[in-house]
Formats: sequence, C-alpha cells, structure tokens
Amino acid sequence: MQDSQTLIDRRAQLLGPNVSTFYEDPVHLVKGDGVWVWDADGRKYLDCYNNVPHVGHCHPKVVEAICQQAGTLNTHTRYLHAGILDYVEALTDTFADPLNTAIMTCTGSEANDIALRMAQAVTGNTGVIASDHTYHGNTMAVSQLSCTNPPPNRWDNVAYVPAPDSYRPLGGEAGAAHARAFAAEVERAIAELAARGHGLSALIICPYFANEGFPDLPAGWLQSAIDAVRKAGGIIIADEVQPGFGRLGTHFWGHQKAGFLPDVVTLGKPMANGHPVGGVVTCLETMTAFRQNFRYFNTFGGNPVSAAAALATLKVVQDEDLMENAAEVGNYAREGLRQLASHHACIGDIRGSGLFFGAEMVLDPDAKNPATNFTKRIANAMRNKGVLLNFLGIHYNALKIRPPLPFSKSNADHMLERLNEALSETPLEP
Ligand code: PMP
Repeated sequence: MQDSQTLIDRRAQLLGPNVSTFYEDPVHLVKGDGVWVWDADGRKYLDCYNNVPHVGHCHPKVVEAICQQAGTLNTHTRYLHAGILDYVEALTDTFADPLNTAIMTCTGSEANDIALRMAQAVTGNTGVIASDHTYHGNTMAVSQLSCTNPPPNRWDNVAYVPAPDSYRPLGGEAGAAHARAFAAEVERAIAELAARGHGLSALIICPYFANEGFPDLPAGWLQSAIDAVRKAGGIIIADEVQPGFGRLGTHFWGHQKAGFLPDVVTLGKPMANGHPVGGVVTCLETMTAFRQNFRYFNTFGGNPVSAAAALATLKVVQDEDLMENAAEVGNYAREGLRQLASHHACIGDIRGSGLFFGAEMVLDPDAKNPATNFTKRIANAMRNKGVLLNFLGIHYNALKIRPPLPFSKSNADHMLERLNEALSETPLEP
C-alpha cells in the first residue's frame, strides 16, 4: 500500500496542480461500511460529511443491484430498456404535479446545464440570476454561475443576489423584512440584466442555500422573490443536489420544505449512493420545449446499471424510513450542539434540518465576527480524532455536518463528544 505522501506526489504529477483534497493531512480511504470509513492504516473514521453514500457506504441492496445489472446488460441509452422508465416513474412519484418527466444525466453539473437550456427554451431568454455564494457545477455555462470561483472572461448574462444570511440578515432584520430585502435584490438583478440587454430566463437557487451556509429561513420566505421572477417572465430552477432525497427530515425535497413549486429541479450527488447519476425533473410542457429546441442525447445518463443503482437507492430511503431517521437523529444532534454551545461561546448559531446541520463559529457572539481560521482548525482537529466533517458558508465558518442517512443517535453522541474535546483543546484565535 502506498503512503499518503506518495499518493499526493503522484496526484500532482498525474492529475496536475490544484486538485483539491480535504484536510491538512489528507485521508487515504480504502473501505466504507454504513457511516464508517477506514484509511489505509486500518484507522476507522465516522463519516459526518458525505452526502454521496446517501443510504450508507456500500449499502448491500445498492451493491447487489449494481452487480446484478452489470452482470446482465449495460449499454448506452438508445435501446429500449425498462430500467430508466421504472426509475423515472418512482422518482417523479416523489414530486408534486406537474413535475412528471425527467432526463437522467451523470452529474449535477450536466443537470444544471440542461436546466439553463430548458429555461432558454421556455422563455427565449438567457439572463440568469444566482446567489453570490453558490456553486452549481463545472460545465462552461454552469461555471459562469459561480461568484466565489469565477471563470476568466465571465459571460455577462448572469446577475448575482446576496446569499441569504439568517444570522446577519440583509437590512438587519430577520424574517419578512429579510425576505423583502432579498426580493428587492432579485428585482435589481432583473433590471441589471435588462440594462445589459438580457431578458430573464431563470432564477437558479438551492432551495436550502446549502453552499451559502444553510441559513434558517421560514417556509414561504422566497415567495416574493419568486413572484418577481415570474412577473419578469423567468422560471425557477431548484438545485436539489444537496438537500434532496429526504436529507432534511421534514420533506423529501428542499423546495417542499421551503414552500414553493419550482419549474425545473436538478439532482445529483446522493441519487445513486456514489454511482455517478444526476437528473432534471420538470413538467411535460417544459420538457417538450427543451426537446424541440435542443437535440440532446446523453450516452451514459440513465443506462441500465445507473438506473438500477438509482432505483435501489431510492427504495432504500423509502423502505428503511431514512427520512424519518434524519428528522429524529438530526433533532437529537442539534440539541446536543445547543448543550455544547452553553459552554463554548464560539458557537454563535446552530442551524439545519434533518441530517444537514451545523454551527457557525464566531470569535465573539455579540459582534458575530466569523472565526474562519478557528473553524478550519476544528475540522482538522476532528479529522485527527477520527470524525470527518467540514466547513463552508459565506465566511467559511459554518461547520457542515451531513452524514449518510443511517446515522444514529449513538453516532451523534460520538461526534458531539469529539467536538466537545476539539472545541476545548483548540485556542479561539483569529
Ligand atoms: N449543484 C450543487 C448545489 C452542488 O453542490 C454541486 C456539487 N458540489 C453541483 C451542483 C455539481 O454536481 P457535480 O459535481 O455532480 O457536477
């Protein structure tokens, strides 16, 4: 077995520079089972971050479905096969009408790329509004939406609105006033696009604002922004790559929790428990407009093995009541975080839903100044204690805890005990 340094050197040589890894001391994983992973030295880690193995690492039902189908037939998607149809039927059953059709892709980026083209097909426009602290993927078009890591010579058809921050709300007041301030920003972005000669095609958002630091926003909060988009002729794209498939505990989809019905929904990461599957869900009318305007074919999207993996994953979420588990264990873990906050003043705000939650770290709870470097040190300290989690948000100071859904209360206790140690041992310095 090669040591970590050898792998780091080979990555630089074979994959090129700037290929990111997590942690100062990157982990070399060789095995996973449920919520646990093992490194090359046999050390066991509690996975509190990975939303890709949604129903647990190497879930036997998903492994079996992949192996069984791979041993029977795998091919591109221009032959008739029931697999993709059975999956799309089961998937769209989880959405409200009229979201009844889907395209299967291999990544979330492709799904968002298609969504942008659907918006263009329906509206005839290409202007897009996104939050200024988001990530929607890596295709040429979709990377234009990233404000934090913008491509060179960025296109001018994208306008940004400030990412919602419930801890430091725009305008200073939370709730309805914050929602109005956000809607005003959306209206400003529509005008900005018009001034640049772009009609509005879509507002694209993660309904849970996952990359923005999962602000605590009440249901209905987005309605006035959505009304402004629709009034200007645009559609709403909900990027469910992170909050979807029951993770939030209360609802199967982030937009259901946020209380709105999007026109197009994009999916990815957890969809097939690690097998590369993404998708786009919309109504027949939008799908028809897309199909008439763009000739689209995806060699691998929805192939028999991918469809089998995705169907098995969806069935496990449903049959093993994993959404209910996410609700129960998530509440329990957040209560544990609140107890930690009573003796660690650096925990400024605890947020989240189901098994997607975390805490914003601050140097001083009154000033709310972000403890960004401290948060990074905590994530590294946790890694050294055998618990994998990470951080993100507008100031990169929100601990992000997003484990596979079979996470138990005793797993939560283990994570909280290690976190208590890390917070006690790490100096709260800028
Ligand atoms: N949308 C969101 C919200 C994401 O977080 C990501 C990946 N981090 C993507 C889209 C892109 O997905 P993929 O990496 O599968 O292309």
